[in-house]
Amino acid sequence: MNIIIHGGFFSESATNAATKIAKQEALQQIAENGYQYLQSHTAIQTVAHVVALLEDCELFNAGLGSQIQNDGHIRLSASLMDGNSGKFAGVINIEAVKNPVLIAEKLLTYDDRVLSGEGAQAFARSNGFDYYNPEIPQRRTEYEAKLAATGTGTVGCVALDAAGNIAAATSTGGKGFEIPCRVSDSATVAGNFANSHCGVSCTGVGEDIVSTALAAKITTRVSDGFSLADACSKSFAELKIIDGFAGVIALDAEGNVHHTDSHPYMVWASCSAKGSSVFM
Ligand code: ASP
Repeated sequence: MNIIIHGGFFSESATNAATKIAKQEALQQIAENGYQYLQSHTAIQTVAHVVALLEDCELFNAGLGSQIQNDGHIRLSASLMDGNSGKFAGVINIEAVKNPVLIAEKLLTYDDRVLSGEGAQAFARSNGFDYYNPEIPQRRTEYEAKLAATGTGTVGCVALDAAGNIAAATSTGGKGFEIPCRVSDSATVAGNFANSHCGVSCTGVGEDIVSTALAAKITTRVSDGFSLADACSKSFAELKIIDGFAGVIALDAEGNVHHTDSHPYMVWASCSAKGSSVFM
């Protein structure tokens, strides 16, 4: 059993010590909580639970505290994939909900498993997900000042459960100040993928992640016999060709974890029987 989580990129981490410590503590606490949860739950249940905790933490750009798009609206995207059943589900640009990952989890049982915008919101309401405003004052201030270059902080989790199944989940408020309804990678198989060999959650520039099909590509390479490290390294070499910007957390069926970033400030934490570690 093993779990790895990320809190996206955080450009202020080198200069803002207080926020850095807060993020480290939050990640470590959530990774440990998730590892405990994994003792009695499946990988897919665990990644949904953990990403919901990350969405509820306003330090990250997912759920509460998400970035605002350039028309002043917050639109959330999240997905999860069960490596055991091979099912992927997601919501794209959904508004006024608390935990988009839990709506994606609900969709796993449906034939139509990726919903966007108003349709996603109508589905959420009819399944008991109430109105919720994920805005925090800091994001509104940034929006008003048009500080488009502030650090992002998408979240993700990949877990390997006691039965050897892998699942991955990713949730984001997007890049911030983007054209309304721009589609993030986080609710696509480029940004979030799992099968019986490997699971991957990405963060970074969604357009670069989609262009390189990063999560699906790493997972396919591991399935075809690459080691996790080699699969990540080859895929990141390809990302470099387009000058792409991304980071991943990944985990394979043997319990190896990997974090790769093309930026020094991706924040992540992992937890296994050997203990927990946190990095940013
Ligand atoms: N990948 C996300 C997006 O492009 C942003 C991020 O990871 O920070 O929507």
